[in-house]
Amino acid sequence: MRTHTCGELRNKDYKKSVLLQGWIDAIRDHGKMLFISLRDRYGITQVVVDDEKLIENVKGLGAEYVVEIKGTVRERPSGMKNQDIETGGIEVVASRIKLLSSSKVPPFVIKDPVMAKDELRMKYRFLDLRRPSMQRKLVMRSKVINTIRNYLSENNFIEVETPCLTRTTTEGARNFLVPSRNFPGKFYSLAQSPQIYKQLLMIAGIDRYFQFARCFRDEDQRADRQPEHTQIDLEMSFADDKDVMGIVEGMIQSVFKDVLGIRIKKPFERITYKNALEKYGSDKPDTRFEMFITDITEIAKRSDFRIFKEAKFIKALILPLLSRKMIDELSDFADKYYGTKISYISFKEPLSGNIAKFFPKELIDELKSTLPIDTEKTVVFCAGKWKRTLETLGAIRNRINIENATKDEYKLLWVTDFPLFEYDDESDTWVPCHHIFTMPNTDNFKDPSKIIGKQYDLVLNGVELGSGSIRIHRRDLQEKMMEIGNIRKDKRSREYEFLLSALEYGAPPHGGIAIGLDRLLMILLNEESIQEVIPFPKTTTGFGLMENVPSEIDEEKLRELRIGIKSPVNR
Ligand code: ASP
Repeated sequence: MRTHTCGELRNKDYKKSVLLQGWIDAIRDHGKMLFISLRDRYGITQVVVDDEKLIENVKGLGAEYVVEIKGTVRERPSGMKNQDIETGGIEVVASRIKLLSSSKVPPFVIKDPVMAKDELRMKYRFLDLRRPSMQRKLVMRSKVINTIRNYLSENNFIEVETPCLTRTTTEGARNFLVPSRNFPGKFYSLAQSPQIYKQLLMIAGIDRYFQFARCFRDEDQRADRQPEHTQIDLEMSFADDKDVMGIVEGMIQSVFKDVLGIRIKKPFERITYKNALEKYGSDKPDTRFEMFITDITEIAKRSDFRIFKEAKFIKALILPLLSRKMIDELSDFADKYYGTKISYISFKEPLSGNIAKFFPKELIDELKSTLPIDTEKTVVFCAGKWKRTLETLGAIRNRINIENATKDEYKLLWVTDFPLFEYDDESDTWVPCHHIFTMPNTDNFKDPSKIIGKQYDLVLNGVELGSGSIRIHRRDLQEKMMEIGNIRKDKRSREYEFLLSALEYGAPPHGGIAIGLDRLLMILLNEESIQEVIPFPKTTTGFGLMENVPSEIDEEKLRELRIGIKSPVNR
């Protein structure tokens, strides 16, 4: 219907007769003349109304009304040009204004930056999405998807959809359940990921598969989690870890080039899981900052501090000189999130810190040269179990540095050689660290703690973008790993038989990865939360404020499903 969008007209369109349609962003009333800013996805055009009758008409309109404006383009008088918008050189003189749709007064002003609280923005997401900054995010999302789809298609990957309604499999999270009406008392599970299906596609000879897959996980929510999220899921046959990494590096490189115009260097750096923890205290280290953890077990054990004498591991992190208040804050943080105690020495004459007195002068000198310290610093110590100790210092490292991190620096990193199993104190058994389909790097399975898997995680600026692995393609080995990971035989045959039996019909060696699309976009767009890049997100507790879900179900529907609610909980 329209001749142009609201972001299209330029000086070259001078004198053209045009028809625009869009939302009223604002009306400015100058008495004998009115200005309407007309908005759509493409931009804002200034409309001049100087006809008396039309001015009367406009008085009945308001913000967010949808109107159609017929008029003629003219150059704005000099001094009235707006350099900030692309249509800023022209305006449209209205000859007819038609109301297409009126609007209630919106619950918040639809402008950037938005002043409304997140809850209100989510409840009226259709209004929030009208803001130019939100529209740019959706455009960017679509662009990233296009770039990836093109790149993977050019590399012989084919896009295949896999079911969302499937059976419960254990991939680390709880499943969402869907009751079946046709099979009363039985349930589907929403897929946590297409993991098993993509392996079956390899067995089916598809060779290279990808999908923008919706994954459903019933987990405790956090800022970077949602009950459903989108993964760029891919899998390839006759491939080893280097092949998968190579494809992903090319894919990430194209995304940065197309979307941000930035050239990312390949190959990405690599670090083993063990070294990542030893050096950065994290399996997803932020390598933008040069601050490393040092092992000082041997020196610290010789101090007079009893806890150090008895500890298995003692690690240290050198920080800028900290005030007492900041140290207290860090201690509370370590205690609250990691259940660990930290101690410290501030290297500024005279030495201070809660454990300085336990270190004789020679040990202090030895510490200084080992760490090494030349200027005034505070050193934070943590002693105890290997992982917990390192993770505590890793979290402190992030906390201290994150505020000064450069936002437009992109550090990509592969973390490799993950352990496949960890000991779970609660159940007193070995359990898989990730999903159970990863190929072990050894055939000696005596000590589960020593079984390292062919797994690789992609990390960008301290955020885990994705995880992948080379898979097991033999039934006996797959069952062996399930046995070590304490997935009981009955559960194996109930949940995994469809994969296990497929492995008996000529499964090619294969591997793949899944990259979180929402997390990738969050970093590309410099956002703090994935809610900002998901069109219709849920709150951090998983509630849909706009649709009001989860919600109660009619008695009749429940009867149909043969479901009774035993004790409804009112929230
Ligand atoms: N399916 C796995 C996940 O969602 C990723 C993979 O191994 O490809 O974590």
